[in-house]
Amino acid sequence: MGEVQRILITGGQVVTGQTLLRADVLIEGEHIAGILSPGAVREVDRVISAAGCFVLPGVVDAHTHIKLDTGIYQTADDWETGSRAAAFGGVTTVIDFANQIPGRPYAEALAARQTEATGAVIDYALHMVVLRPEVELDALQASLGELMALGIPSIKLFTTYRPNYYLDDAAILRVLRAMPDGMIAMVHCENDSMVTAATQALVEQGKTDWRHHGEARPAEAEAEAVNRVLYLASLVGARVYIVHNSTADATSLVNRMRSQAEGKQRGRFFCETCPQYVLLHDSVYAGEHPERYILQPPLRSAHHMEQLAAYVRAGMVDVLSTDSCDYTLAQKRATRDFTRTPGGLPGVETLLPLMFTQFVDHVGLPRLMAMLAENPARLFGLYPRKGTILPGSDADVVIYDPAPQSVIRHQDLHYLAGYTPFEGMPVRGRVRMVLSRGEVIVDEGAFKGKAGRGQFLPGGRSLDPC
Ligand SMILES: [Zn+2]
Repeated sequence: MGEVQRILITGGQVVTGQTLLRADVLIEGEHIAGILSPGAVREVDRVISAAGCFVLPGVVDAHTHIKLDTGIYQTADDWETGSRAAAFGGVTTVIDFANQIPGRPYAEALAARQTEATGAVIDYALHMVVLRPEVELDALQASLGELMALGIPSIKLFTTYRPNYYLDDAAILRVLRAMPDGMIAMVHCENDSMVTAATQALVEQGKTDWRHHGEARPAEAEAEAVNRVLYLASLVGARVYIVHNSTADATSLVNRMRSQAEGKQRGRFFCETCPQYVLLHDSVYAGEHPERYILQPPLRSAHHMEQLAAYVRAGMVDVLSTDSCDYTLAQKRATRDFTRTPGGLPGVETLLPLMFTQFVDHVGLPRLMAMLAENPARLFGLYPRKGTILPGSDADVVIYDPAPQSVIRHQDLHYLAGYTPFEGMPVRGRVRMVLSRGEVIVDEGAFKGKAGRGQFLPGGRSLDPC
């Protein structure tokens, strides 16, 4: 007794589950001990005033690529710098990826990625990228069952990127069929032959300059692949999660399938989008710095961007994540050929302020935090340990001051990229303090955490979002 530190966060408005209320939050050690009426508790080791602020669950970014090595390109960050940038943005959990080592047990791929992540300053979980699924159904079921037992309830499948990541339709169907109960498949959806043909045509015409990047990956290639994957999942009753929706069409397909699922269709269908697809559109490819916006899928038309944002406001998107990749400007500029420029944008640090600014007035703070914290935690088996402020949850808390007005500037951020795709965008509010398992790791813009304090989070069953 007496060794467990008690912290009281007072005077703020707290997002707890799907409600926003004026309350004090009591933290004991690493956990939330209670949500109390203001002034109910006095005897604590430390009082943190959140007057005028919101007290939010730490953001769970369900789609990051820290220290990404595609075999061709390597991002500049490591787990210490990458997860520190996340912490500055109020992200207290990242869910990143481990790639299957073909022919080896999943445990080896997991262990290799955990070794890389030993410098993490926040907690993390991992999705497993399935590259070479067993051909025989029994063996595939057994290996996916082992993966689930290792604390990995989510796998990632790709409909494109030959020859490394691509899975054909038969393989995707086989994996969806073999998944154990409680597992969810994230799928990167772009029709591979449509993307390959469009890219090939541009190459033949000598149109490989950065500004042509968007033309190489047409919007209909995404919608077609989404439609196909949803159909395959419905055949076998699988849970699927469409990653980084860049088009309105992809999002309406998921929602159409979801409403049919209440009738005769089997399967459960979910999706995410990312700040870049609701804040930026393809006019940047004709601008001064097209290389900064090379990513897959690319930015779309203003129409898609606006419609996608409207779908977020309408509750049609479950999760807001980043797909953050910390490639530097030097890497982006190494060649003017879009087919050889690394794809991906830095974003994890700006997720919360940008999405707060864009959506809070329309959807309200509880729904915003559902998309940023509770839903990813539920879908990827981390709830209620992460994603919410409830008694017993990890004390991952962000104190967010909604008053300051500022603009995003890369000099203020902690990435290594040397730029932000959101330069100059106005934002409302700022992250004042971040706690991870009861420890203050960011305080008024100063980093207080320690490399290596982050823990691997084994996940349980995938739950439905709220
Ligand atoms: Zn990604």
